[in-house]
Amino acid sequence: MEHFEAIIIGGGSAGLAAAVTLGRSRRTVLVIDEGNPRNAAAQHAHNVLGNEGINPLDLLARGRQEAIGYGARIIEGGVENLTGSLDTGFSVSAAGNTFSAERIVLATGLIDDLPSIPGLAQAWGDTAIHCAYCHGWEVRDQEILVLGIGPMSTHQAMMFSHLSSKITFVNHTPDALNNENRATLAALGIPVVEQPVKAIDFDTQGTLDSVTLADGQKISAQALVVASRMNAQASLYLKLGGQLAEHPLGTFIQVNEMGATALPGVYAAGNASNLGAMVMAAAAAGTIAGAAINADLLGNQLAKVQAQANP
Ligand SMILES: Cc1cc2nc3c(=O)[nH]c(=O)nc-3n(C[C@H](O)[C@H](O)[C@H](O)COP(=O)(O)OP(=O)(O)OC[C@H]3O[C@@H](n4cnc5c(N)ncnc54)[C@H](O)[C@@H]3O)c2cc1C
Repeated sequence: MEHFEAIIIGGGSAGLAAAVTLGRSRRTVLVIDEGNPRNAAAQHAHNVLGNEGINPLDLLARGRQEAIGYGARIIEGGVENLTGSLDTGFSVSAAGNTFSAERIVLATGLIDDLPSIPGLAQAWGDTAIHCAYCHGWEVRDQEILVLGIGPMSTHQAMMFSHLSSKITFVNHTPDALNNENRATLAALGIPVVEQPVKAIDFDTQGTLDSVTLADGQKISAQALVVASRMNAQASLYLKLGGQLAEHPLGTFIQVNEMGATALPGVYAAGNASNLGAMVMAAAAAGTIAGAAINADLLGNQLAKVQAQANP
């Protein structure tokens, strides 16, 4: 069985940043990635310093080359099984092989669960958007509909109201708005339409055109803001015996400031442990987890040398 000091599961910004840090520290590193980063539907990644507006897949291709340049090995595929512990070592199965590791980084990202509305998946990441920092500048001054589906929706309406004065809130889910939310929207001058959305409509070029409400009425829109429920991809962590933490917007793997989870030897970084992390924050978390693992391994090596010197 091939052995690595660290195996990183997930090769998005978080996982690749961890791989670069560990590779530069002369650690043997394997990244296993099934190649479905969260922002794959977007053409551009914004707020990425030094790479502003880069295509998300191009950014990761660069990151992979950087990690490989420092000796990391990368294989494509989904990790099917993860077993073991800090004491026994970890065993990772993927792509028909099993590998062993002393430390694990879970950089598996999250899943965006979207409301089930015809057309929404098609527009996601393009004209159906969730984040003012990722897409807000691009839709400034446009006609924006905010889909009211929960407590996050009023917050989104507030965020986008700074970018456009043409905002309408569509109260898709009846319990999306409490009195406080309604007061916020009224103070911001955002009209509320009290009907669910039945479908999202596109023009002949495939560009968002309008939404159709339950009664058949259409409201024109250039952008649709929608909150997803965000759940960390954490089945491997659960298999190891970990527990997920609850967040109003989903579930995630709790870590300390160095990325260590409650399971010794297992680290997590990026959206798996921080639902709000954008690309640079995910990468920063990966770097920190990589550095923490290197320090941890150095401490072990030192302890062994000292034990041998003073048996
Ligand atoms: C539409 C959209 C647009 C966005 N735009 C921006 C933006 O402009 N700027 C910005 O800063 N942020 C943006 N974001 C947020 C950005 O996507 C995240 O910050 C970033 O992807 C988090 O990186 P990550 O490494 O944690 O996870 P991901 O990038 O999602 O990477 C996780 C990787 O792990 C892999 N994986 C999962 N499970 C397994 C497994 N069992 N085995 C092997 N591999 C596995 C996945 O396939 C994936 O390749 C956007 C998000 C969305 C949804």
